[in-house]
Amino acid sequence: MFSAFLIKYGEIGIKGRNRHIFEDALMDSIRFSLSKVPGDFDVTKEQGRIYVKYSSDFDYDSSVAALKKVFGITSFCPVVISEDKSWDVITKASGDYIEEVYPDRNFSFKAFARRADKKYPKHSMEIAAEIGEYLLKRFPELSVDVHHPDVSFNIEIRECAYIYSIEIPGPGGMPIGTNGTATLLLSGGIDSPVAGYMIARRGVNINAVYFDAPPYTSERARQKVLDLAKIISAWCGPIELHIINFTDIQLAIFEHCPHDELTIIMRRYMMRIAEKIAWDEHRMGLITGESIGQVASQTMQSLRATNAVCHIPVYRPLIGFDKNDIIEIAEKIGTFETSILPYEDCCTIFVDRHPVTKPNVHGIEKSEHHLKGIIEDLVEEALRTQKVVVCE
Ligand code: ATP
Ligand code: MG
Repeated sequence: MFSAFLIKYGEIGIKGRNRHIFEDALMDSIRFSLSKVPGDFDVTKEQGRIYVKYSSDFDYDSSVAALKKVFGITSFCPVVISEDKSWDVITKASGDYIEEVYPDRNFSFKAFARRADKKYPKHSMEIAAEIGEYLLKRFPELSVDVHHPDVSFNIEIRECAYIYSIEIPGPGGMPIGTNGTATLLLSGGIDSPVAGYMIARRGVNINAVYFDAPPYTSERARQKVLDLAKIISAWCGPIELHIINFTDIQLAIFEHCPHDELTIIMRRYMMRIAEKIAWDEHRMGLITGESIGQVASQTMQSLRATNAVCHIPVYRPLIGFDKNDIIEIAEKIGTFETSILPYEDCCTIFVDRHPVTKPNVHGIEKSEHHLKGIIEDLVEEALRTQKVVVCE
């Protein structure tokens, strides 16, 4: 019965000239998200409102699921459109709407009307009052509550009549592409997909880098990261994933540096390489899933040692989160089940049993000195042989 969705979006921060940038980006995200669902549709902007209008049958449930993943949408309403605006037609259409959408009609409602077509012979107050009266007469089990109605019944008279009453929450945030670009360090763990989701939700376009260590890590571990990138792409848009073969770098660190510093030194090389990838595409920051104190490499001292090699901002949206908070989001966005698959991660293979928890930046720099003359070529080779896969 529905043939359109009315899209509602936050108004804050999108006044003036930013408004059309925000709206255009939102419309692009909606098109991308719905392109995967059967149905012919148009996304239009009319009088400051965004609509998705269908010209064919469409899959309602999948469309709703897709719209729930479009950042920038605060809520959306499935709409019945009546091209015929004559009074008898729209009152009957309103009744038919209630009949079909609410099989159980023991609820209170309030009718709201808007008249954008100023030539329409009734004012909005009259429209609301008369439609309310009609509905009460046709369905005596309904009641009116103007203060706290269970259902807000809306009718809008524009070039057509629009009828809606259901409001489905969207994910909020800002449309992808309205707030710059960044590179996500994406591992197969629980945290980094959530970190990417959170930054993307603020409108940031992300790409990703994964450090692979074959043959120490398996094809399945890499596939897991591809799967995670694909899951979050439903929110973030297509993600270009750079796969870096990190094995020789890890082996060199293992051979030349103190074993209790391996993880920190490895993390510093990850940051350096990720920064190069970000730099090449003029991206404005890095994103990691780090959280204070979660593991030895995430103490304040370790974070400082890792951060010391970065020249662009590193965004760590989970920095103050407990693991349980992170898991809750991972479950909500659908990455948790994939993240907990038990495949090895490149970080865990070479870890010392007693890694340093309070590294000193100078000490770490000294240890890295042993890599001089070897590591530069290995980093270059890792970048040269990187594979790029678009996940969507
Ligand atoms: P996650 O659950 O995200 O894997 P973690 O708790 O396992 O995090 P670490 O292994 O210390 O923590 O990694 C910290 C962060 O470094 C990760 O959140 C991720 O952003 C990045 N990272 C770690 N390993 C890799 C990897 N193999 N490829 C890309 N990024 C990585
Ligand atoms: Mg990890």
